[in-house]
Amino acid sequence: MTPAAYVHLDLDAARHNLAQVKRYAPNNRIMAVIKANGYGHGMDRVAAALAEADGFAVARVDEGVRLREAGFTQAITVLQGFVCLDELRLMVRHKLAAVIHTPQQIGILRQLAPESEKLPVWLKMDTGMNRLGFKGGDFLAAYQALADCVAVAQPINLITHFANADDLLDDKTRRQIDVFNHAVKDFPGQRSIANSAGIIGWPNVSSNSAQVRGGDWVRPGLMLYGCSPFAGKTGADFGLRPVMSLHSRLIAVKYVAAGESVGYSGTWTCRQPTRLGVVSIGYGDGYHRHTQSGAPVLVNGRRVSLIGRVSMDMITVDLNSQPDAQPGDPVTLWGEALPVEEIARHADTIPYTLLCGITQRVQVIER
Ligand code: PLP
Repeated sequence: MTPAAYVHLDLDAARHNLAQVKRYAPNNRIMAVIKANGYGHGMDRVAAALAEADGFAVARVDEGVRLREAGFTQAITVLQGFVCLDELRLMVRHKLAAVIHTPQQIGILRQLAPESEKLPVWLKMDTGMNRLGFKGGDFLAAYQALADCVAVAQPINLITHFANADDLLDDKTRRQIDVFNHAVKDFPGQRSIANSAGIIGWPNVSSNSAQVRGGDWVRPGLMLYGCSPFAGKTGADFGLRPVMSLHSRLIAVKYVAAGESVGYSGTWTCRQPTRLGVVSIGYGDGYHRHTQSGAPVLVNGRRVSLIGRVSMDMITVDLNSQPDAQPGDPVTLWGEALPVEEIARHADTIPYTLLCGITQRVQVIER
């Protein structure tokens, strides 16, 4: 018996996508970004599938601790670093590397006992994202303070993050690269700049060549899960394969007369007599509530349209093109034949939110 709502995880696809990253960035080490429960795929499971990566990145200390406790021995970087001494001690104990982005963190580092094991750090430069990191003279001062700090493993590594790399026409990315490379050119540590969009769209950033320093480590997230970071494209356009597909089944089929509305708030009115299918999936499973009427859904492998509002446990689809569809028939919400990027567009969001949004009641089937 198949569950009402389930995801298939194709972990071979994750390994394939990692190999693709290596093809895009052959001279770089790879820090696989598996935060937010591995972008909704299950952090431990993804880490095991991507064991060939040179390291992992997570957002928070507790994610790093969980990975260590699960037995992963690779380098693990905590992208948000720590905010208090207790968290810092936890990081040291679990051999986690910290991104340093505030003067407060440097103050906390100074409180660490001199005999304690040294913490590997990535000093974050704010090159234009205006979220985490130091700018200009503050960056240089932070570098010096870390260089003088006995608790810190030397040399200090250097990191920045792109704001707009998914827009290939936006000059901001080039400016971010230049600011970073110029600021760090005389420092000995490792560098890391590129996310998925940087790896695919800004190849010089990933290169380790002498004139473009800054890409010793790349930090792919989305592309490892098989998705495109660029609007209007799918992962397949870049040789990637989706890891997650989301499935359900029809639970009812009925006729609705022309002129009748369907679902909450009556946002859809049938223009003709409509054979309507009810599918057992909703925002309570992570199917985005803002997915619009007209979004494609696969019933028996063939495209039909979502109609009306997404409810907590159900959606409704137009089955006029499938007179034989019956309760129990298989439904796919996204996957290889229906890219999640396309569904994200219909929900006015990005694939990241859809992947991360799958809820606990959805069963996971690995293949
Ligand atoms: N690096 C940092 C600092 C991030 O916050 C993220 C994700 O948000 C990534 C890398 C990976 O980005 P992407 O999933 O777009 O490849």
